[in-house]
Amino acid sequence: MAADRPPSVDTLARSLAPTGLPHPVLVDVAREAIAAGDAASAPARAAEAARRLLGPVVNATGVLLHTNLGRAPLAVHAEAAYSNLELDLDTGQRGSRQDRVGPLLARACGAEAAVVVNNGAAALLLALAALAPGQRVSVSRGELIEIGGGFRIPDVLASSGAELVEVGTTNRTRLADYRTAGEVALALKVHPSNYRLTGFTESVSVRDLVTLGAPVLVDIGSGLLDAATPWLPAGPPPWLHGEPAARQTLDDGASLVTFSGDKLLGGPQAGVIAGRADLVATCAAHPLARALRPGSLVLGALQDVALAYLRREPDAIPFWRMATAPVELLRSRAIALGVGAVVDCASVTGGGTLPGVELASAGVALDGDRLATLRACDPPIIARVEDGRTICDLRTVDPADDAHLAAALKEP
Ligand SMILES: *Cc1c(COP(=O)(O)O)cnc(C)c1O
Repeated sequence: MAADRPPSVDTLARSLAPTGLPHPVLVDVAREAIAAGDAASAPARAAEAARRLLGPVVNATGVLLHTNLGRAPLAVHAEAAYSNLELDLDTGQRGSRQDRVGPLLARACGAEAAVVVNNGAAALLLALAALAPGQRVSVSRGELIEIGGGFRIPDVLASSGAELVEVGTTNRTRLADYRTAGEVALALKVHPSNYRLTGFTESVSVRDLVTLGAPVLVDIGSGLLDAATPWLPAGPPPWLHGEPAARQTLDDGASLVTFSGDKLLGGPQAGVIAGRADLVATCAAHPLARALRPGSLVLGALQDVALAYLRREPDAIPFWRMATAPVELLRSRAIALGVGAVVDCASVTGGGTLPGVELASAGVALDGDRLATLRACDPPIIARVEDGRTICDLRTVDPADDAHLAAALKEP
């Protein structure tokens, strides 16, 4: 009978919108309720999912530094408060700090699971230590890179206890080179984020690498979650072209990806391991995971970022808001400053991402080197000098700071 048909997943999910959870999360909730043959339980399930998110709690235990409540109360932008960091609100027992942010990030990039550590280097170190202890890991010689701050792939491999098997040459590595290298526990592919190899070059794609049989771990670096950028109404900006993304790398057959929280992801300093649930669980269970775990500050900030992606609210992520601001808007702000000469200039993503890529931008130029004067302002202003002129690029300036910038530039 038509009247007995369960509601569609989408209709049910939409009816749950008042919970404030992002639609994809509500779709999962609705699906679970329908699968359990109990569509009527969906609102309770959604309320439960909303309540399980990181948030403030009242600590009436009398334990000032309660581990399950995030130890000391945290004061960031809000009042000092305890949180449900390691508290399971259902049972009142100790829970896991990893069971909220990881699943949200996994949902946003189509991974089965994800675990969060302190930074991208830690993510790679943990994955290698957990998945290939004392075992052979193949890496192309073209990917034995240094990221900066002493992060060198051969060193990370050595400290993880895995055995580096170098494959191919600096500029050309083929699938046959991986075959010659023999059996490995893991094939590692590293995105050379901060430089470009051009000319007579060849490398092996993830799709080809997986045909060899060993699990493929890809350090994509920057934390672009999805090359299709569903969170941007206008789609992917042209400057993103060629940047490896978590979703597509996993779709190509990689077992795991690792990436940073504070590059193109736009979150706090953190590292993420995402992919196959069994391998993520092995990483999370390794003793190093405890040494590399993030605090509630980072997890709370990363949860906000993950929710913004799932809600498709790029303006809630400053990186995307600034990166996608139309140049005409920047130019009109530059005109409105009323000081110096309005100039077209070029921004870069920086932070070891997208080398050589420039984003058209606008700002103002003043004669001479004014860097020291600007740094002495309160708050300090950091600009750059080009051809004897001081350039202030408005792409990275919060519009709320335009008045301060204008006043500082008008100083003689
Ligand atoms: C940036 C980067 C890292 C290091 O990440 P951190 O979060 O800075 O530790 C590792 N691998 C690649 C490919 C990177 O681009």
